[in-house]
Amino acid sequence: MTILVTGGAGFIGSHVADALLAEGHEVHILDNLSTGRRWKAPEGAPLFEHDIRSEAAASLFTEHQYDCLVHHAAQMDVRKSVEDPSFDADVNVRGLLNLMEAGIGQGLRRVLFASTGGAIYGEPEYTPQDEKHPLRPVSPYGVAKLAAEKYLHYYQDQYEVETVSLRYANVYGPRQNPGGEAGVVAIFTNEMLRGGQPVINGSGEQTRDYVYVGDVVEANLAALKCEGSGTFNVGTGRETSVTELFRALRAETGADLDETHGPAKPGEQQRSVLGYERAEEKLGWVPRVSVEEGLARTVDWFETRRELEVS
Ligand code: NAD
Repeated sequence: MTILVTGGAGFIGSHVADALLAEGHEVHILDNLSTGRRWKAPEGAPLFEHDIRSEAAASLFTEHQYDCLVHHAAQMDVRKSVEDPSFDADVNVRGLLNLMEAGIGQGLRRVLFASTGGAIYGEPEYTPQDEKHPLRPVSPYGVAKLAAEKYLHYYQDQYEVETVSLRYANVYGPRQNPGGEAGVVAIFTNEMLRGGQPVINGSGEQTRDYVYVGDVVEANLAALKCEGSGTFNVGTGRETSVTELFRALRAETGADLDETHGPAKPGEQQRSVLGYERAEEKLGWVPRVSVEEGLARTVDWFETRRELEVS
């Protein structure tokens, strides 16, 4: 297949692009390098440095014949979405529409969309949250991802295109950007290795579901091969608190640090954990890398590559 990977110079998209190339697909990358980096994008794929909202991005669908769009480009900073909901919607909704309008009628048959399980359900009514859990996003980012999923339903209903939304839990692993507000594993690891003092927001009892990027790649490969459309959680069913994460990373990095707490972030979700039974049943996907193993691999990578990450 010929596949356009948006956000392919970013953390998750670059790993997905690597795997698609390894599977023998022809891969093109579309990324404006706003948070992505050229070095993350695989060498075997041309990188088109355009904004997903641009004419130039839309033109790619007439210049090339894409069978599949793997959409990872996004404004993915939750706090930024609160500060500027219009910008968030512009990138995360209008950007997708620009690509879909360009791809429909040009042979686009399949779309994989990087959605969010962490931000789309809101505070759990029950755990683990499955795909039938009420959708009550508490941030503009979560609302925009939900709107994008709904637009994909519209396209699959009206046109000959299949769409799969993968609702990721908190993804972590090599190449994650430690410079932003998001990505607590990358932020803590980077600080600990550089002799800094990571700060735990609030009590540290808030929990998340941490899924290793290699497992997320496997979910994308499975979703590419399956028939039809669908929405799937990509998580582990396991909750880890920020304090537990801090302690595990402290042990892994060997940092000599006390736990330091800062003020709680107002409005921060307290719990999030995703059930993956549907993905297991329909995609044959299960997470394989435990948090312990994933954190060890991540620390190994940051130890050797962290200079590159400090941008
Ligand atoms: P990332 O910031 O590393 O990757 C996003 C990429 O999109 C970057 O390379 C950036 O340059 C590119 N981009 C941003 N705006 C663009 C635009 N307007 N035009 C073209 N390119 C643009 O983040 P990531 O963690 O790899 O996230 C990838 C996707 O997965 C996003 O859609 C995100 O919402 C989703 N997601 C991530 C997580 C997580 O825990 N990291 C969880 C759920 C969902």
